[in-house]
This record gives sequence, C-alpha cells and structure tokens, in this order.
Amino acid sequence: MSAIRTVLGDIPAPDMGVTDAHDHLFFRSPVLAGQELDDRQAAAAELRAFGGLGGRTVVQWTPYGLGRRRADLAELARETGIQVVSATGLHQAVHYDPDHLARIRDRLAELFVHDLTKAPVRSGLIKVAGGFHGLDTHARHVMAAAAEAHRATDAPIAVHLEGGTAATQVMDLLCGALGVRPEGVILGHLGRSPDTRAHLDAAHTGAFLSFDGPSRAHHATDWRLFDELAALAEAGHGHRILLGGDTTTATARASSGGGPGIPFLLHSLRPRLVREFGEQFAAEVFVDNPARAFAADWA
Ligand SMILES: [Zn+2]
Repeated sequence: MSAIRTVLGDIPAPDMGVTDAHDHLFFRSPVLAGQELDDRQAAAAELRAFGGLGGRTVVQWTPYGLGRRRADLAELARETGIQVVSATGLHQAVHYDPDHLARIRDRLAELFVHDLTKAPVRSGLIKVAGGFHGLDTHARHVMAAAAEAHRATDAPIAVHLEGGTAATQVMDLLCGALGVRPEGVILGHLGRSPDTRAHLDAAHTGAFLSFDGPSRAHHATDWRLFDELAALAEAGHGHRILLGGDTTTATARASSGGGPGIPFLLHSLRPRLVREFGEQFAAEVFVDNPARAFAADWA
C-alpha cells in the first residue's frame, strides 16, 4: 500500500495536500554554531502560519544526530494539525563528532531501517549528502547504506547536493550501481548551481528535483528560480519539481528571525507560480508531485 509515513503514522498519498517538500523545524550542527533551530515555540509558529495559508504537510530533512527532535515533531503535528514527515539518514561527515561517526559506521543501514520501521516516531525518508562536484568516501558509504535501507523499506532518499553539484554522480551511484528506483530519489539544492543544462540532465535521470529557499546564504542564485522552473517545465519535467523553504537557521524564520521562513512558500512563491505558469502547475508542484515523491510501498 503506497503511503506517506508521517510522524503520527502512515497516511494515503492523496492526503498529503499542500506540501513544503524540504524544510527544517529543528536542526543543530557544529557547522552552524549559534544558529541552532531548537526553539519549539518558533517551530510551532512556523507550522501555524503555514497552515493558515493552506499548507498541510512539512517534510523535515534533518537527519540522524543533528537535533531532529522526533518526539517534539510528533507533539507539534498533534498540536498544530500540520502533518510532518521526519528523516533518518546522515549528513556530511563535517556535521558530526568523528568518534560518534566511528561508532555507528558499520551499522548505518540497520540504524536507518530501525528509524523507518521500528522507532516510536518513525521516519519517512532517508537523507544523504553529496560533496562539491564529487563524492567522498563518507558520502559513498552513507549512500550504500541508504540504498540498502531503501531496498528493505522502499523509503525515498533525499539528497543534499553540495552547491547544487554532482547530481549525475549521485544518480550513477544510487540508481546505476545500488539499485534504487530513480523516482525514489529527490535531488535537493539544485538551484544553488543555476545551470539549466545540468538540471535537465538531472531531470532525465528520472529523479524528483527539489528547489529550495529563498535564503540569505543563497541569495546569489535564488533569483534564477523562475527561469530554471520554466526551462524544466518547457522540457516536460514539471511533474518532477518540488519546492521547499529549507529554513536551516534561526534568522531564516519568519516567526522569530525576521526571515522569509516557511510561510513565504505560500504567501509569496505560490502566487508568483500561479501568475507565471498557471494554477495547474502550482497544484502539481505543491500537491501532486510531493504526494508521488514521498510515497512508498512500505515494507
Ligand atoms: Zn535542508
């Protein structure tokens, strides 16, 4: 049975509704010291604002070990009525204490499958991360474990592309070598490298393509979003596009940080999407596509 695995249980894919396909309610990394997303009230405010604009589901890509706070996610989903999907998986090595990584290194697939199928609050996707124009040993090791967990559970794999690069290498590894179904992969951060031809190559692999932001950190490329979407839509890849806010720092939050935050997707991006490409396209990007991208035949 194809379903979306939320923090409160499985739901039929059509119930996913208007979806923020890539975001963070909680996130903590030594790389972003002082910018932790750890304020439960701020997270609740973002969810309520999103719901007030017609949003139904937020997918949090925070993986294992980076303060994803699964129990809080479940409580917030209950309190706000917004459906939340949580991730397992691993980010780049730089985000972790090396000793911690060494302790879990040999049992990653087991850990991911446990998060997806047995944990009190279960995960609904596996997050992995590539490198800048290539994949290091850590990335390859984590992707092999993610593929093993995917084959065991059918869970979708969401990929942080560093600077929007190395999509082809990621797809060659995950799908070419490791047997993941292409439509079971979501490539994130493509907009950080606004190379339309590379985006078309990525689309041809059969993966879903997630564009995210805006953010201060990616302001240099955010302005290319609509041209990028137009190029993909004109080439017939509208059904692969996802949009997310990717709020990774406290100052990016609308409720408490003075940033665009999660609500921006619906009060600003969505109306522009409708104006530029029509209501049908906006519905595809915010409703139909996420319902396919995050659905799995859970084993
Ligand atoms: Zn993210």
